[in-house]
Amino acid sequence: MKHERKILHIDMDAFFASVEQAVNPRLKGKPLIVGGRADKRRSVVCAASYEAKRLGIDSGMSTQEAFRICPYAEFVAADSAKYLYVSKQIGNLLHNYSPQVEQASVDEFYLDVSGLDKSYGSYLELGMDIKNNIKSSFDITGSIGISVNRLMSKIASSLKKPDGMVIMDIGDIACFLKDLPVEKIPGIGRHLTERLNNYSIFSYSDMRRIPEDFYADKFGKVGLWMFAAANPSLFMEDDIHWFHEVDAAPKSVGHSYTLPRNIYARHEVEAWLRLLCEMVGSRLRRYKLESSILHIYLRKPGLEFVSKEKNFKEFTNDSAALFLRALFILDKLKARNIQIRALGVTARGLGAYTGSFLFADQKKRKQLSNAQDDINQRYGDWTLHPASILSIRE
Ligand SMILES: [Mg+2]
Repeated sequence: MKHERKILHIDMDAFFASVEQAVNPRLKGKPLIVGGRADKRRSVVCAASYEAKRLGIDSGMSTQEAFRICPYAEFVAADSAKYLYVSKQIGNLLHNYSPQVEQASVDEFYLDVSGLDKSYGSYLELGMDIKNNIKSSFDITGSIGISVNRLMSKIASSLKKPDGMVIMDIGDIACFLKDLPVEKIPGIGRHLTERLNNYSIFSYSDMRRIPEDFYADKFGKVGLWMFAAANPSLFMEDDIHWFHEVDAAPKSVGHSYTLPRNIYARHEVEAWLRLLCEMVGSRLRRYKLESSILHIYLRKPGLEFVSKEKNFKEFTNDSAALFLRALFILDKLKARNIQIRALGVTARGLGAYTGSFLFADQKKRKQLSNAQDDINQRYGDWTLHPASILSIRE
């Protein structure tokens, strides 16, 4: 018998702050702020521990305001290399449970766990095993949701944070989510919420009452997505293609991140693009590929995004060269003065790496890239990284 599709979503609790508390036990149990220094103006809270959240401090707030709320809060500067390292290790651990693991952001993963209830006794026991394993390996907690597709499992994992677990079968969804405000559904931002509210659609159960035609008429493509979100039982099969083929030769190599807060400043956008180009370049080199087309994606808060790609004709797998291309595309994107919540860099137009060099400095940089990859593979990624990645710590 064909088993029902089950997707597990795990979202680490206050990830950056929890990693800092795990590394430095003196910070455990205390209100902790991760972010720019308090004496610097315009610095923001990147992450707050649950002890700080309980006092009303949260990411995106200015550090000045956070210190006004809690003058005795502990403070550490954000260390993105450290978080990416732990993130990678968590990904490795999750691969022991399912070959189909998809990293959605630095602290969120989706696993296709269909049928694994047989091996673990139940989905509840599978979830507990993952939680216990992460707790004993990294001394941090995560919240798990298990449901019929990615969206439903992501909502489920948010229902009992922190350290929670919610299993939402297809028959439970309407009841579990009936009072959920529409703005709590990932993908429905402020703009869509306003438009839905104008039609007196405030909750998930309101969304379920609306026929497909209405969504299509009033909202177009996004409307169809919302109709699917409201009626997951009609769309379960569509989900099957949401996971990438694991072992197929890649047609593209990309990385994207959803940030813990919106970013706005050009230097922050550049720092994250630098990091993503570093990751993409490293993977291209591992696959012995190079690419001629680069694609940049910037998502605003909510579902809206801007993206652009360019064919550069010359092939490369050099991270610094990819970054220069990314900057070129960024300039064409006219993305100044917009809030950005997620970014992605994808290399396409792939070809086998030929090893020929047009210029001497290309050869030197290639050797440097190889040395960096060797060290990163031995000691974990992000042991070595170019200085500009460090500027994300600002
Ligand atoms: Mg999280």
